[in-house]
Amino acid sequence: MSTFSVIIIGAGPGGLACATILAEHGYDVLVLERKPAAGPKVCGGGITWGGLIKRIPAHLIEGAFPKQYIKSNFQHTVIKAVEPIVATIRREVLGQWMYQQAQDKGA
Ligand SMILES: Cc1cc2nc3c(=O)[nH]c(=O)nc-3n(C[C@H](O)[C@H](O)[C@H](O)COP(=O)(O)OP(=O)(O)OC[C@H]3O[C@@H](n4cnc5c(N)ncnc54)[C@H](O)[C@@H]3O)c2cc1C
Repeated sequence: MSTFSVIIIGAGPGGLACATILAEHGYDVLVLERKPAAGPKVCGGGITWGGLIKRIPAHLIEGAFPKQYIKSNFQHTVIKAVEPIVATIRREVLGQWMYQQAQDKGA
C-alpha cells in the first residue's frame, strides 16, 4: 500500500500548481483526476502577460496580443501596449505541460 503526505483531487491548473510546489518541497504528493487526461476544458485559453505565461516555455504560446479592443454601447476604446497584454495557450497544452512539471518534481 502506498502512503502520501498530500492527496490533491483534480489535475486542473490549481491542483497541478500545488502538486509541483509541494513536491518541490519534498512532500509525497498524489494527484487524482477523474478525466483520462489533464488539461482539456472549455476555456478561452487567455492568460495575462504578467502572470503564469512568464513561466511557460515560449514555444507553447499560441498568440500574444499587445492591443485590446473594448466595445460597448457607450465606448469604443483601443488599448495598445509595448508588451503583449494577454497571450493564449490551448488548455490541453497547458495541462500536459503542468502535468509534466508536477511529475518531474516527483508528484
Ligand atoms: C467558458 C470558460 C472560459 C474560460 N476562459 C478563461 C480564460 O480565457 N483564461 C483564464 O485564465 N481562465 C479562464 N477560465 C477559467 C479557468 O478555466 C479556471 O479558472 C481554471 O480552470 C480553474 O482551475 P482549477 O484547477 O481551480 O479548476 P479546474 O480547471 O476546474 O480543475 C479541476 C479538476 O478537478 C477534476 N475533478 C473535479 N472533481 C473531481 C473528483 N471528484 N475526482 C477527481 N477529479 C475531479 C476535474 O476533472 C478538473 O480536471 C474560463 C472558464 C470557463 C468556464
